[in-house]
Amino acid sequence: MQRRKFLQNISLVSAAVALPAIPHAESAKKKKRFTAAFITDIHIKPSEIAETGMQKALQNINQLKQQPDFIINGGDSIMDALAASKEKTQTQWDLFNKIMKAENKLPLKHCIGNHDIWGWQLKEDVKSDVFYGKAWWLQQTGYAKTYYSFTHNSWHFIVLDSVQENNGGYIALLDNDQFAWLEKELEANKEKFICIVSHIPIISFCSAMFAKDMMPNGDWKLSRALLHTDAKKIKDLFKKYPNIKTCLSGHIHLQDEVNYLGIKYYCNGAVSGSWWGGPFQDFAPAYALFDFYSDGTVERKMVEY
Ligand SMILES: [Zn+2]
Repeated sequence: MQRRKFLQNISLVSAAVALPAIPHAESAKKKKRFTAAFITDIHIKPSEIAETGMQKALQNINQLKQQPDFIINGGDSIMDALAASKEKTQTQWDLFNKIMKAENKLPLKHCIGNHDIWGWQLKEDVKSDVFYGKAWWLQQTGYAKTYYSFTHNSWHFIVLDSVQENNGGYIALLDNDQFAWLEKELEANKEKFICIVSHIPIISFCSAMFAKDMMPNGDWKLSRALLHTDAKKIKDLFKKYPNIKTCLSGHIHLQDEVNYLGIKYYCNGAVSGSWWGGPFQDFAPAYALFDFYSDGTVERKMVEY
């Protein structure tokens, strides 16, 4: 067995499953409702490799026999706006929009990534600029807020904003307003299956695999920017809702599939691989296809386009 395949398939955390497993005979009856493509961490920049790569990924989706109903963009659409000048940020968004317009034919749902946020790490002070911070991404997507939800074929999608400012850097968590909104969303949608989308994983093993080395004392090196620091609080909230079936993320550029307390958490690699420098660790540039079923199950296929 290929090492990569093994790592992709392994279910790394096995915990108590809230619902009984569906017997084999019944699983044959489950019907596929729809497919969605998940593209994340495109990190577009002016370069032939990056531009061709983004084009190829979208062209690959266009060529699928069974077209997805829509695409979820998991965030980090552009290489970086955190520390980039206004001009450089504009160039990257122009490029992203140009390629999307030329190659994408499907409805697109966006999730905000850390690198989509402008100016948090710029030396010059741009705080008074109307495009500062998340404002540029809101203008770019046309959304009113950085988190939102939508329903598709009895599945309810909740798209979160994982990225909060933290002393000039960022930390992975939901702010209080967003957490309160999430509680209300879950309470109002108990009759639907739920798919949560966040740029940074809420629960993931590959977040711990991101760093090459360990801490000097042997502890894992796992930064606050790589895994939701409020994961335990979110996990406790999720336990009240057995209709939450899956959580999809990007950010790490690695892939895993973690089954934790009855929810399937998928971290979905990166369209850009190692930021357009080939594979990142064991994972080639890829996007994910998710099949959503009538019984609340989901299946993922990674596509190395
Ligand atoms: Zn990211």
